[in-house]
Amino acid sequence: MQAMAGPMSTNNADTYLVEEIQKGSQSAWRELISKYSGRLLAFARARTSSLSDAEDLVQDTFVGFLNSLGHYDPTRSLETYLFTILRYKLYDLLRKRKPNLLTEPEDASEWWDRIVPGNLETPSVVAAQAEATKQQSQLLGELLRELIHDFRDRSAFEDLQVIELIFFGGKRNLDVAELLDIDQKAVAGIKFRAIGKLQKYITERDPTAIACLDESQAEITVSNVWREQRLTCLKRSTLGSHLLGVLEEPWNAYTQFHLDVVACPMCLANLGDLETEQDDPASPDPDRFFQSSVGFLKKSD
Ligand SMILES: [Zn+2]
Repeated sequence: MQAMAGPMSTNNADTYLVEEIQKGSQSAWRELISKYSGRLLAFARARTSSLSDAEDLVQDTFVGFLNSLGHYDPTRSLETYLFTILRYKLYDLLRKRKPNLLTEPEDASEWWDRIVPGNLETPSVVAAQAEATKQQSQLLGELLRELIHDFRDRSAFEDLQVIELIFFGGKRNLDVAELLDIDQKAVAGIKFRAIGKLQKYITERDPTAIACLDESQAEITVSNVWREQRLTCLKRSTLGSHLLGVLEEPWNAYTQFHLDVVACPMCLANLGDLETEQDDPASPDPDRFFQSSVGFLKKSD
């Protein structure tokens, strides 16, 4: 039951860490780096041809984080925020250096690399306009979480896999049918019923928000919310248990699905990092990132 939706749950330790960093604490900054550098590096390494490129990207990500501290929204997952900055840095590098920098994306993770990274925190100019959207996203996130819990409570894992592949994985009905070896009409039916349920939930909770789920927009809106809030991503502790082979069913099978079939790049990065930690606890050396970024740490006013 606790296996999923880890990265989104508000993390008090992270909130505290960021508050300390905003006050200029070097030890908090060192702690953040040692906590997150491994998984960021694993993410970058999977997408760059050289280790030094990957390290530069992670370095730029940490500096970018310090420079955007004023815009950080503590209600959002710190990990997801860092991954988002990293993806921006990757895009920048790709644009500058062009194709041969990136290794051929594996088929499974290619979908993710085609998605333009989500917005970083919105500047104040458009804040008022974005606020409504943010409220709608929060509501939709809550309702989607209810829907996902409902599927899990009923052990309707196939239905859950279908909608995860569609909304999080961006797959077409046909591909989902092939991946799960079920009928394409069944896929369409599951998707249709899921959106119908969401529309019903929204009408009950806040009828004025129903517009965000109208026919033309529903799929995109749900996808954005699911990806941004990483509704079915795995807790790091769950990935650790999976790695040790001590995760119980059905969570183990579901974890395998999220990693192998959905090929979630952020959970794969966490898994890669955990594997590296297991093999070589001293790698990577977070101190390098600390030394090269600490100069950008400044006291907020
Ligand atoms: Zn994930």
